[in-house]
Amino acid sequence: MACFHNDLSNGPEIRDKRIAWLLSILYDLDCLLHHSYMPKIRTQSISKTFPDGTQALHSVNLEIHDGELLALVGPSGCGKTTLLRIFAGLDTATEGEIFFDESEISKLPPDQRDLGMVFQNYALFPHLTVFKNILLSLEKSNLSKIDKEEQVQKVAHSLGLADLLMRKPSEISGGQRQRVALARLLARNPSIHLLDEPLSNLDANLRLEMRQELAELHQKHQKTTLFVTHDQVEAMTLGQRICLLNQGSVEQMGTPQELYDSPKNLFVAEFFGMPSINLIHGSIESKSNEEQAIFNSRDANLSLPLPPEIQPSTQKVILGIRSESIFLIEHSPKNLFLIHRIEYLGDSQVSYLDADELEITCKQPSFDINPADKVGIKVNWNHVHWFDPANGQRIQLIES
Ligand code: ADP
Ligand code: MG
Repeated sequence: MACFHNDLSNGPEIRDKRIAWLLSILYDLDCLLHHSYMPKIRTQSISKTFPDGTQALHSVNLEIHDGELLALVGPSGCGKTTLLRIFAGLDTATEGEIFFDESEISKLPPDQRDLGMVFQNYALFPHLTVFKNILLSLEKSNLSKIDKEEQVQKVAHSLGLADLLMRKPSEISGGQRQRVALARLLARNPSIHLLDEPLSNLDANLRLEMRQELAELHQKHQKTTLFVTHDQVEAMTLGQRICLLNQGSVEQMGTPQELYDSPKNLFVAEFFGMPSINLIHGSIESKSNEEQAIFNSRDANLSLPLPPEIQPSTQKVILGIRSESIFLIEHSPKNLFLIHRIEYLGDSQVSYLDADELEITCKQPSFDINPADKVGIKVNWNHVHWFDPANGQRIQLIES
């Protein structure tokens, strides 16, 4: 009786479990049918020294989440292409390991890594038509000839290349060549996309257009993507996260906002932002007999009262203020700067100011000032950065 009673009470529970189980199978099937597998990539202490002794990478640790677009950015020669070639298996690391999900793949040959790369120069075959250039990327696929040709047509159509298939690379524009290089990648549809400065050969307008297209392509296919660029704006606008490389070492990884709002050191602070951040050497002091801390510039007769949260001390610092966090004050009695140049940008204007040995820039909505005018400044203290002049590292003056 007790058993019967139990069965009755468990009945709906068991039914619910079965339904949940069936739903989970259906969900897995749907995932298998509609989403391809996208591994995350992780490197562990990758270093590279070329035979001539050039040390291109120093113990690089980074992780690209599955389906993420990570922008790898840094000045020319900092090791971006070297790292990409190591991911692709075109070069080997001197030390360290690479994992796709949890599998170590450093020894896998390139064609077993399920990734595709777009090179800066597009690497198209000049004697082949656009059609054949795209078709060639399917050389190793198991598809039938008809299916391969259909795949080429489909990708060419989606990238607006359908009318150009019979042309040679020399007969199409730079932007179109760039699309052919992307079409080769998409036709094969690998799980990982590696793009090495794919936009740097295009003119400014086209770059903007292709940037938009790349963002849309990533949104549509959601492939794990490493996008290499030396351009801070491209990195900020395309990267879901950014890895900033400098002389073969990772300076900082994070979202564009994290890198812009909380740079770990002077290099990161100076790399992002246009005009570049104002860095003012000086010290924090206190006015005699007063509680309030002030910042005194080393290079000019500039003395700025600090907010009350900052304790008076005698500390040498570098004050970082982005140009949009400085405001000009007309008819100011002190802290005077001379305006020596104004760049009118339509929606805003950049003023170049100097006082003694100090030069700063200020960006704000246009207002009526002229070169040779004298102005004071006001600082938005909520958005300043402090650095230690001894090592360039960020310092926290206000407890957060
Ligand atoms: P990036 O792509 O960031 O411009 P690279 O990865 O191409 O930089 O180069 C990183 C450093 O390694 C540079 O100093 C470059 O001169 C050097 N380098 C690249 N390839 C080789 C090579 N095959 N032999 C020796 N040095 C190289
Ligand atoms: Mg490069």
